[in-house]
Amino acid sequence: MKTIVTGGAGFIGSHLVEKLLDFGYEVRVVDNLSTGQFSNLSAVSGNSNFEFHQVDLVDFESVQAAFKGVDIVFHLGALADIVPSIQHPLAYFHANVHGTSNVLEAARAVNVSRLIYAASSSCYGIPDVYPTSEAEPVRAQYPYALTKYLGEELVLHWGKVYGLSVASLRLFNVYGPRARTSGTYGAVFGVFLAQKLAGKPFTVIGDGTQVRDFTYVSDVVNALISAARSEEAVGGVLNVGSGIPHSINQLVTLLDGEVTYIPRRPGEPDCTWANIEKIRNTLGWKPQVSFEQGVAQMLANIEYWREAPVWDPESIRAASVDWFKYLGKKHG
Ligand code: UDP
Repeated sequence: MKTIVTGGAGFIGSHLVEKLLDFGYEVRVVDNLSTGQFSNLSAVSGNSNFEFHQVDLVDFESVQAAFKGVDIVFHLGALADIVPSIQHPLAYFHANVHGTSNVLEAARAVNVSRLIYAASSSCYGIPDVYPTSEAEPVRAQYPYALTKYLGEELVLHWGKVYGLSVASLRLFNVYGPRARTSGTYGAVFGVFLAQKLAGKPFTVIGDGTQVRDFTYVSDVVNALISAARSEEAVGGVLNVGSGIPHSINQLVTLLDGEVTYIPRRPGEPDCTWANIEKIRNTLGWKPQVSFEQGVAQMLANIEYWREAPVWDPESIRAASVDWFKYLGKKHG
C-alpha cells in the first residue's frame, strides 16, 4: 500500500511516517519545509520504502505529480500557530484552505481509497459543554482555527459530493518528542522545556489552574492509522484526545522548576477536554499513554530543545502584542 503524508517533515507527521514504515507501508512525504524540518525524518531517510517530495501544497501541478499511484492520504500539511495567523491570514488561507482543496483534487484524480485529515480542536473556541463532543458548535477565534476548520469542511464536502472516503480527526493539544520549536511563541511544552534547560522559570499563564487535554503523539498516530485502516467508512469528524485534562500547575510539578506568572491571553479557554466516546465506538481506539508517562518521555528527550528559543515574560509580551490587540476587544 502506498501512503502519502502531507506535512510529513513536521512534528506529528514525522512520527506518523515512522509508524507507517514500521507497518510496512510505502510512504511518500510531501512537505515544503517551510516549518517542517528534514532532520525530523533522519531516522527513516535511508529506508527504501520512503520518498521525499519538496512540494508546496499551493502548487497544484506539483501536488498532482506527487500523488501518482497513492492509495491512502494523510493530510497534515498546514501552517500552525495563533499569532502569525492573526498577522498573515492570507498565508494561512492559502496553505490551509487552498492547499487542502488541491490535496483533495489530487486525491480524487488518483481515486485513493481513504483520506484522513488532521483537524484542530481549536474550532470549538470556548465551548459551553465539557467534555466537548463533535456535536458542539464551531466557534473559531482566530485565522488558524478558522482555516483548519474550513479545510475540514472541504474534506467532508469532497466526501459527500465525490464519494471520497474521508475522516477528519480533531486533535487536542498534541505533545511528544520533536514538538515544534520554530521561532514563533507557541505550544507550552516547547516553551517550558527550553526554559528548564536554560535554568529559567516556567512562564505560567494566569494562575496555572487552566486545564488542557494533552494528547501524546503516539496515541494520535494510532488514531490516524486506525481511521485509515478501518474496514467501515468513517465518513465524519472524530475527536482525538486523552479524555483526561491536566492543569498547567500539574505539568509544572512534573517538570519540576521555578515559576513566574504572566497575564492571561484573551479568547483562551480555561479548559480543553475531549469527549472521546465517538472514536472509541467507531474505531475501538483509546489512548495508551498517561500524562505522567508522556511528560517523562519529554524529559527523557529534553536535549532536543537545547537550540530552541528561550522565552521570558518580556519576550512573550512582545510576541503576543497582536494577540491582545485583535482578540482582546470586541469589535463592532
Ligand atoms: N501556557 C502557559 N505558559 C506558556 C504557554 C502556554 O502557562 O508560556 C498554558 C496556556 O495557558 C494553556 C496551555 O499552556 O493553558 C497550553 O497552551 P498552548 O499554547 O500549548 O495550547 P492552547 O492554548 O492552544 O491550548
